[in-house]
Amino acid sequence: MNTKDAVTTTIMNTMNSHSTIDVALGDRSYEIRIGEGLLAEAGAHLAPLLGEHAARRHVTIVTDANVAALHLDTLTRALDAAKITHRAIVLDPGEHTKDFTHLAKLLDDWLDLGIERRSMIVALGGGVVGDLTGFAAAIALRGIDFVQMPTTLLSQVDSSVGGKTGINTRHGKNLVGAFYQPRLVLADIDVLDTLPPRELRAGYAEVVKYGIIRDPGFFAWLEKHGPALIAGDHAARTEAVAISCQAKADVVSADEREQGERALLNLGHTFGHAMEAESGFSDRLLHGESVAIGMVLALQLSERIGLCPAGRAARLIAHLDAVGLPSSPAGYGYTVPALLAHMQHDKKVEGGKLTFILASDIGKGVIARDIATDDVAALLAKALA
Ligand code: NAD
Ligand code: ZN
Repeated sequence: MNTKDAVTTTIMNTMNSHSTIDVALGDRSYEIRIGEGLLAEAGAHLAPLLGEHAARRHVTIVTDANVAALHLDTLTRALDAAKITHRAIVLDPGEHTKDFTHLAKLLDDWLDLGIERRSMIVALGGGVVGDLTGFAAAIALRGIDFVQMPTTLLSQVDSSVGGKTGINTRHGKNLVGAFYQPRLVLADIDVLDTLPPRELRAGYAEVVKYGIIRDPGFFAWLEKHGPALIAGDHAARTEAVAISCQAKADVVSADEREQGERALLNLGHTFGHAMEAESGFSDRLLHGESVAIGMVLALQLSERIGLCPAGRAARLIAHLDAVGLPSSPAGYGYTVPALLAHMQHDKKVEGGKLTFILASDIGKGVIARDIATDDVAALLAKALA
């Protein structure tokens, strides 16, 4: 089946011409709804989940100050229209908010506000808000319902789907958390219009990732439509978010707890994480930018060890250039030993061998378990030169 057919058969159109993707996880199944104007219709989407009970006709929104200034009014007006009462907790924007201190404060704020087992939480924001709020929802009163309303491209195609929630600790990123699925995901394409272009591009790297690991037709589609998507084309954004969410939903349904196939979603992330760590997780290199460069390195490594035909990394680089994403680790001041040290610290190294997500072609991600450290070192030396 080509990408186009796959999308038309798996995405049903409901309500106001938005796309719906099912995440099939038994009694924890839920829908992802994608389209324009969803925030303004949010009351109608939430109401069926709430029922008629008074305690349920009230939602607690968690968001950050940037998103609150731009989009909270749209959501609260939609809730008012549906006679759903609400209150909002507005967090500091930024990765530093995903920590124990903010988790404890959020939980206490909820308890101060009289949260109950059957309360409903809404996470309105990017991955930081979604990860923190989802984790708090997982552990507050041993689990209360929450809905994801992702507002960055990264959160729409990746972090809001699949139920990974959590926070960072001084030992590293996302080391404390839970698998806890939302009841619904509403991805409003309109809110991406206010996203800083650099954040939009960074999220786009995760979109490209789905093409490389499982869908060559989608990668070709992105080569054609990616520049328009970045420039603001809503139809292209809607289609790319829908295909990406379908890809993530498929992978998560097959392997919710990452015992196998879900690991493919980490393509580019081992290299990327090493670079992010070397940059101190600063604005120097956004997560998605590190993934873009990491995917190039993964394809170059795949070619180097004879897993993948030549020319695939070059094709990816050409596409990343076309959409304004970085494709080389050179120029950031990284060294081979420093990057290798992060990768070895990250993973179990057995007999000098590392596990990587590589690709045998565009659209064919593979888990490669015995990559020689020497091959990685030689590749990095060339890439950093
Ligand atoms: P983010 O939440 O920090 O948002 C990026 C910036 O954009 C913030 O300053 C935010 O305030 C702002 N913003 C958000 N929406 C906006 C909008 N519509 N208009 C204008 N500004 C807006 O970052 P992110 O990239 O969305 O998420 C990154 C986080 O996601 C990381 O903590 C990462 O670990 C996590 N993550 C989780 C998963 C998962 O499976 N749970 C997957 C990937 C990433
Ligand atoms: Zn990522």
